[in-house]
Amino acid sequence: MPEPTHDELRTWDRTLVWHAFTQMAEYEPLIIERASGCVLVDIDGKEYIDGVSSLWCNIHGHRHPALDVAVRRQLDRVAHVTSLGASNPTTIKLARRLVELSPPGLEHVFFSDDGATAVEVAVKMAFQYWQQCDPPRPEKTCYLALAEGYHGDTLGSVSVGGIEQFHAMFRPLLFKTLRVPAPDPYRTPEGVTAENLLEHYLGTVERVLAEHHQRIAAMVIEPLVQAAAGIIVHPPGYLRGVRELTRKYDVLLIADEVAVGTGRTGRMFACEHEQVTPDLLCLAKGLTGGYLPLAATLATDQLWQAFLGEYAENKTFFHGHTYGGNPLGAAVALASLDVFEEEQTLARLPEKITRLGEHLQRIKQLPHVGHVRQCGLMAGIELVRGKQTKEPYPWHEKRGIHVCDHARTEGVLLRPLGNVIVIMPPLAITLDQLDQIAGAIENGIIHQKSV
Ligand SMILES: *Cc1c(COP(=O)(O)O)cnc(C)c1O
Repeated sequence: MPEPTHDELRTWDRTLVWHAFTQMAEYEPLIIERASGCVLVDIDGKEYIDGVSSLWCNIHGHRHPALDVAVRRQLDRVAHVTSLGASNPTTIKLARRLVELSPPGLEHVFFSDDGATAVEVAVKMAFQYWQQCDPPRPEKTCYLALAEGYHGDTLGSVSVGGIEQFHAMFRPLLFKTLRVPAPDPYRTPEGVTAENLLEHYLGTVERVLAEHHQRIAAMVIEPLVQAAAGIIVHPPGYLRGVRELTRKYDVLLIADEVAVGTGRTGRMFACEHEQVTPDLLCLAKGLTGGYLPLAATLATDQLWQAFLGEYAENKTFFHGHTYGGNPLGAAVALASLDVFEEEQTLARLPEKITRLGEHLQRIKQLPHVGHVRQCGLMAGIELVRGKQTKEPYPWHEKRGIHVCDHARTEGVLLRPLGNVIVIMPPLAITLDQLDQIAGAIENGIIHQKSV
């Protein structure tokens, strides 16, 4: 078969490929053919700075030599080994690295392949734990989660998620979850101020736990930042408070670090900022530096012990994914962790984080910018109809999309969350590239005014 023309590729992309989270009736093909560092190149040779890390997963840039070599070396050994009753050296080494690096107390690693599966595994482990711990607590079958939470798109992870626009359709298929409001410092209820914010939101968590803890298996949380909700940055102390309350009421804590893990917040794990060890910790997106699908659910020894026994006791965790713990993914994940050390990725972040913050302070002054928020190298810029009233634009006005469309004309690739412009570049981004991203957004917002 001859190579397809660009027009053929565009037609097939529009008609054959069903894209994720995309209205296919309106889809305009964007076909990236190659990349280098933090720059993506489409089939026409047009370059774009990767302003959202290829959906929040790229860390060290694209085609990083050390990561490329790691995949090639692993290919020379074996591309896939099942994790069902078998193993391979690369995946074992990665498990050991993750246990060493992660908050103390997390000692066992269950590998899968995506963020949703990492959460699905955690949710099911928490459930089964209470069925067979000593003494068992079989009535603990319910979950507590945050409103506007996002944990992936499988039915279990949607059940603990809370994004109306995505999840309402599937409600009849979901299990029931208790929810507390997201501790959002921008849109607070009457009477809640910066001073009593933390107390207020931890109070709501405690009230639900006090009333329902007997039947709650676990609380699920995105530590520090609810990413898909629109980069909602929690007040400092919230995570720590949630950990103390879940301990007090004997409820497991599942930390979904799929978006905030692997360096995004300025530390390797978000939980480190508040010296928290969850009972289960989920990693995916950045785990392989954005190269291959691989996810991990880390568990404490307390959980692990509850699953040990004679085969006939039926305590086994009957869950697995064919490609879970894939050695190619594990090889590049190990290489990514090496690059963190060799390039001092985390030590080089503070100046980028500061620069991003400076841009946000400037952008905040623009008309219709209601709020800017940042944690490490992730930021959100929320556009509103009224700066004073905080009145949101109706979602169908596609304000966020329009700004990102403009940025694309300036060679910056972004993907908004509703009215929130997201900035989440690879950690390897340069200061100069950060300036270009911010400039393109600024122009997009100014251009917006006249729309
Ligand atoms: C993206 C995301 C997920 C889902 O990860 P996938 O790899 O897309 O399945 C889960 N949790 C959080 C916090 C995420 O941001």
